[in-house]
Amino acid sequence: MITASLLLAAAWTLVPGSFAPAKGPDGNSVLIDAPAGLVLVDTGRHPAHQDKLIAAARARGKPVAAIVNTHWHLDHTGGNAEMRAAFPSIPIIGSDAVDGALKGFFPRSRAAAEAHIASGKAPPEQVAEIRRDMAAMDDLANLRPSQVVRRTGAMTIAGRRFEVHLERHAATAGDVWLYDPNERLAVVGDLVVAITPFMDTACPEGWRAALANIEKAPFRTLVPGHGAAMDRAAFRRWRLAFNNLLDCAKGTATKEACIDGWLRDAAEFTPATEQTRVRGMIGYYVDSRLRAAPQEKARYCPDGAG
Ligand SMILES: [Zn+2]
Repeated sequence: MITASLLLAAAWTLVPGSFAPAKGPDGNSVLIDAPAGLVLVDTGRHPAHQDKLIAAARARGKPVAAIVNTHWHLDHTGGNAEMRAAFPSIPIIGSDAVDGALKGFFPRSRAAAEAHIASGKAPPEQVAEIRRDMAAMDDLANLRPSQVVRRTGAMTIAGRRFEVHLERHAATAGDVWLYDPNERLAVVGDLVVAITPFMDTACPEGWRAALANIEKAPFRTLVPGHGAAMDRAAFRRWRLAFNNLLDCAKGTATKEACIDGWLRDAAEFTPATEQTRVRGMIGYYVDSRLRAAPQEKARYCPDGAG
């Protein structure tokens, strides 16, 4: 007897990213079957991740037909060039937010990285990673989308129908997430990061609103930008932890109390071995973003209200 699970074999594959200490992360990637090939959501950063993507495409028996970048961070776009070398001429679908990064975030992070290399404190493998990131920043043909997502709406990609959502001023100035109604699958990029929201380029209140939009989609499975896939209930618990963190930082509680609150609310998403790292990251984001001076907040929130 053929079981239902075989008949309903998933039309998608998750290629998990990585988040090793002292190394830039790779975001999660998802390959989704489409009539014209595979839709690849995000391309990771390191060559080892792109090798896994190419192997996963082979296992599905189809070429990659289109790339969707959820956002411009290099742990999601850094492999665009490698994937297009393997699958030539495929479109890159994404928001235009990278144009803002090219004027602001990238020059700032490049200056900091060059100073770090000049200091002699960077080990050789880190220097190699920085150089690779810089090359990705300079490779505009593979960094900028060939097809710009300008609004939320239905979109056919490689012959498959998706709801493509654009969230302005959330984790970045333009985050794209996909909802596949057939699979009841949401692929949301860094609007959800299991271990801790990465707030480096965030507008927190815009991000809060984006999470409310995600919850409106009737997904069964949600693939975050980093970490394991979630069901609806897990997403709702993560969202509550996120909202509580923003509320805590807005109030008069100490930074330590806000960190403790996150670790309590998001306990299921924090491996025991990561407690110290998460504590450091949440504390950093409270200082550098959630409680930043209005001028600093205005970098990522148009009205400085975030
Ligand atoms: Zn990421």
